[in-house]
Amino acid sequence: MDQRPVKAIGLVSGGLDSTLAVFLMRQLGTDIVALNVASPFCTCNARAFCGEEGRVLSISKMLDVPLVVHRSGREYIEIIKQPRFGYGKAFNPCQDCRVHTFEVARRVMEERGARFVFTGEVLGQRPMSQRLHQLHRIEKEAGLSGLIVRPLSARLLPPTVPEKNGWVDRSRLLDIGGRSRKKQLALAAQFQLRGHACPGGGCLLTETGFCAKLQDAFIHGQDSDEQLRLLRVGRHFRLDAHHKLIMGKDERENNVLTGHAGPGRVFFAAARANGPVALLDTMGERPASLEIYTAAASLVLRYADVSKDEEHPVSFGSDPLRMADEIATRACPDDDLLRYKLPEKLLKPPPWAPPAEPTGQADQHPDDVEWVMCATTTGGSTGRDE
Ligand code: SF4
Repeated sequence: MDQRPVKAIGLVSGGLDSTLAVFLMRQLGTDIVALNVASPFCTCNARAFCGEEGRVLSISKMLDVPLVVHRSGREYIEIIKQPRFGYGKAFNPCQDCRVHTFEVARRVMEERGARFVFTGEVLGQRPMSQRLHQLHRIEKEAGLSGLIVRPLSARLLPPTVPEKNGWVDRSRLLDIGGRSRKKQLALAAQFQLRGHACPGGGCLLTETGFCAKLQDAFIHGQDSDEQLRLLRVGRHFRLDAHHKLIMGKDERENNVLTGHAGPGRVFFAAARANGPVALLDTMGERPASLEIYTAAASLVLRYADVSKDEEHPVSFGSDPLRMADEIATRACPDDDLLRYKLPEKLLKPPPWAPPAEPTGQADQHPDDVEWVMCATTTGGSTGRDE
């Protein structure tokens, strides 16, 4: 008889619940490969992905399990544009996001010769993806029916294949449910687990301000990887269908913007006053008109240290360190500012998306959700969601 430990893929987010899940499964003798499915919209750190540089790596070291990081890319962007199960309160397609995460987990499971997947999900903790019928639907969609063990809630759930087959001792799994974290915190203290949770972490897809920028980028086809990274920086103004202005809010953001010189990019700054740097994105090939240049210059003056009722020179050029040309105009008046600002409300459904499948679940998302998540992975962590 094969006495080798059964191998499993443990989804880890860097949060408390998934850390506990790995700890518990390791105690049961499971041979674990930790998997972090990192979203481009995670806010755990400024480098966009938390996997390799962040908490997940230190937790995998602390628990002495190998770590695989999957960075979701364009396939994830397409999911956001057309989720099958709809959005949460902002632009977060949580159920589709979870299906994607588990599909990645299934692939890694097959590649690594593992027999099942486990997560730190807690029954009832998250309103859009951790109710019983949602857990079942998500695992079925991902091709993992019966193959996902949730050690924190297992005894509240029907037995899985690994439990029925004796690969996992069900009697040593837990029965935690609901949104309180008290039991998990007590267990973390008991087991002396440290380093979990991402205090600054979360998912940008739950933040309305960010999602307004994302929708605008999708609508106007300005959604290359670089353009999506720039959504994290500055104030964004829509000048016309082909031209967007991004303005730094502080010195750090000004410096980030000046690092994005390239074809179709023009930089603006007040010529003889303190103020922001702005990047005009002309989508690569479309030269901007004088009207667009004047609008960009007037917006720069709006946020510069200049009197608002007279003309001032604004430098511009494709090289942010040598803006050789100048244009003179006045600071942007209120009515133009309103015209250029992105809408504060999200378009739902967004104009490019077909109606979501009638799941009856997406609309049940309460507005006062305070649960938390980091990256796209398992339960347990600390960002806002759904
Ligand atoms: S909140 Fe979490 S589950 Fe929802 S879209 Fe963001 S990462 Fe995915």
